[in-house]
Amino acid sequence: MDLRNGFDIKRYIRTIPDYPKPGILFRDITTLLADLHGFRAAVDELAWPFLRGGIDFVAGIEARGFILGGAVAHSLGRGFIPIRKKGKLPSRVIGQDYALEYGVDTIEIHADAIKQGDRILLIDDLIATGGTAGAAIDLIRKSGGEVVAAAFVIDLPDLGGATKLKAKGVKVHTLVGFEGH
Ligand code: AMP
Repeated sequence: MDLRNGFDIKRYIRTIPDYPKPGILFRDITTLLADLHGFRAAVDELAWPFLRGGIDFVAGIEARGFILGGAVAHSLGRGFIPIRKKGKLPSRVIGQDYALEYGVDTIEIHADAIKQGDRILLIDDLIATGGTAGAAIDLIRKSGGEVVAAAFVIDLPDLGGATKLKAKGVKVHTLVGFEGH
């Protein structure tokens, strides 16, 4: 998809076949982040629907969601809240389990990071099945926050994640889509 300013960020995303395991097409954003125009375009496009306000904090999912989410928070003039893998945050946490292909994983947020009614924009690099972002939404809601929207550079629509988030009542903003998975 061409962005509004005609800058095509899709061509800066590199595809690595069979990583981390056979059959996966890994959409690598390090090439986008390394490009001065690409990184700025991605951050600007993630942020633009929220420039008029309505957001109190940006939350990003470890680890690529930190790079993009931190920049979006700075761009919007808002604070950033990290959602981390289990055991990484130093103070008291709230956790949320979610299903992986094999087994479960847990993400955590500081228990005092969000106040009741805070309006949160959730950011990650990519939405696939929506398992990770869905757990992050549950975690933010458990903390008392309202998820205004979830924004991603990449959507893999065939995996249904965006549809799943919309069914949870969350607006979804994505910049580029790739067929398949
Ligand atoms: P999911 O929970 O299935 O929506 O997966 C989303 C998370 O896994 C994101 O944090 C992505 O960074 C990562 N991910 C899943 N599939 C891919 C892929 N094909 N290429 C790159 N990252 C992926």
